[in-house]
Amino acid sequence: MAYSIDLSQKTALITGSNSGIGLGIAWALARAGADVVLNSFTDRDEDHAIAEEIAKETGVTARYIQADMSKGDECRQFVTEAGRCDILVNNAGIQHVAPIPDFPVEKWDAIIAINLSSAFHTTAMALPMMRKAGWGRIVNISSAHGLTASPFKSAYIAAKHGIVGLTKTTALETAKEPITCNAICPGYVLTDIVENQIPDTMKEYGMSREDVIKNVMLERQPSKEFATVEQLGGTATFLCSDAAAQITGTTVSVDGGWTAM
Ligand code: NAD
Repeated sequence: MAYSIDLSQKTALITGSNSGIGLGIAWALARAGADVVLNSFTDRDEDHAIAEEIAKETGVTARYIQADMSKGDECRQFVTEAGRCDILVNNAGIQHVAPIPDFPVEKWDAIIAINLSSAFHTTAMALPMMRKAGWGRIVNISSAHGLTASPFKSAYIAAKHGIVGLTKTTALETAKEPITCNAICPGYVLTDIVENQIPDTMKEYGMSREDVIKNVMLERQPSKEFATVEQLGGTATFLCSDAAAQITGTTVSVDGGWTAM
């Protein structure tokens, strides 16, 4: 049997998708035929304009729903308001870089809420919809930092390891059903979240921007290249395909060899 990827008739919800990896995944799923629901907490005109552009370019239905993924009830309301969820991509995430004794408690709480607990809330609402439809795909965006650690990123690394654990549990709870749950673990991708941590990392290590990119970030990535949002879109689309129906409860690294070391 030959496999091709056709996600028409499916509705994909992507949290945190007005920029970066989430937006790259939204474009890829839309190009594979899925209707997409974009999200962020911002609710700006340009957020709605992104959805309009995807709809215009690909011919799918694309909507934007505002919801703050730091709040459990808004995570749940996001899925309810979408009305249907065949594909759930838990992507929203933030970062903060500081040594543990100086790590602000409110940053710890926000990172655990947005990067980890939001996926629990959306999954809890999406699974009954997937069961009703008789098909489902959950793609959690973890990180190379879901499998390994670095100093000064305690909350992020705890949350991303937690996402891998949630992924495995979700997969076991759905193993006998046509529903899969996997985690993608990207290495460094040059999006806003990475741009924003360069100044703090420069401060922590006393390095220039160029040295942080070369000697801290890409030092961990044997390919010496950033992964791209298009590559992550392709990986997520594959995990939603029929060829990936028996792939569940695992991690897929897109990290230029980082976690092979
Ligand atoms: P990004 O900053 O471009 O994207 C983060 C997204 O999360 C944005 O769309 C933002 O609007 C959204 N978001 C933040 N707080 C939110 C909230 N309270 N409610 C709703 N949405 C919220 O960065 P990115 O690199 O595209 O990050 C996307 C995911 O990929 C994150 O989970 C991140 O941890 C993960 N990741 C990124 C890299 C990388 O190198 N860029 C590597 C591994 C994993």
